[in-house]
Amino acid sequence: MNSTRRLLPALLAVALLVAPAAVASGQGVSADPATTGPTPADTIFGRSGRLLARFFAPPRSMEVEPIARLFGKREQKSTSTVAVTDSASGRQLSLITLLPFADKVNGRVGDYHLGRFPAEKRAPRSAAYENPDGFIEVTPENKDTPVSEHFRLSDFLTHDQKNVWPKYLVLREALVDKLELVMVELQRRGIDAQRMRVMSGFRSPQYNQRGVGRGRARDSRHQYGDAADIMVDNNGDNRLDDLNRDGRVNSKDMRILAEAVESVERQYPELVGGLGLYRANSARGPFIHVDVRGQRARWGRY
Ligand SMILES: [Zn+2]
Repeated sequence: MNSTRRLLPALLAVALLVAPAAVASGQGVSADPATTGPTPADTIFGRSGRLLARFFAPPRSMEVEPIARLFGKREQKSTSTVAVTDSASGRQLSLITLLPFADKVNGRVGDYHLGRFPAEKRAPRSAAYENPDGFIEVTPENKDTPVSEHFRLSDFLTHDQKNVWPKYLVLREALVDKLELVMVELQRRGIDAQRMRVMSGFRSPQYNQRGVGRGRARDSRHQYGDAADIMVDNNGDNRLDDLNRDGRVNSKDMRILAEAVESVERQYPELVGGLGLYRANSARGPFIHVDVRGQRARWGRY
């Protein structure tokens, strides 16, 4: 199974990230992209210093234990989640175990319908298109768990099967980290970005499939949990805000958002990915697509 191959480097990386000295001193936690010099290091709280959840591929329950022990206070929230508290900052971090990919049977985990991933049908075009390692189980009880300072698990759920619980989610930490870094960058540019709305995060393959030919790509990154369609929406009206304060919401505001993404990719080349521009139409305002596929991709225009 491909998760086994990926497990060792992932665990080594986490062991390094969670080095107690870095956690205790908060090093890298307030990564300031304005400072010149080398890219700020990744930490247990991510490059942005704002991640509040980390995901572990199975089999790993025995692996969370030593990490959890580095923190003074820990609490078992559910079978899949251990919450630990960083003594230096007082922040709570959720260590979430993924349900194995193999638990999906006939396209379903429990009653929740996910469908078949592209690599279950044909050879993946690259490693980025292999099946995900597993799924985050989302229940009515844990759906509001913060994954970072501005996002929670429920922000990324597929928009279907409203009454089916638990739901299952594919989400990559690198995406959440990138979205937080975009907010940092916007604020650094004097843009009042306090709330970012995820219009669409994870799309299960069966949900994505229904939109193929109507604007959704067959191999859409949304199926891999590393893509989000976003806009800054401080006032909660479900439309992009007037970021440049010129009295109208249009492509110029979208451009501000897109330029922040470009800047984050220059500062963090490891977070490179897709940037898609979507102008307003009669049904909705402008928004952008962001992903961390590992290769630069651009589409759409201002
Ligand atoms: Zn998208």
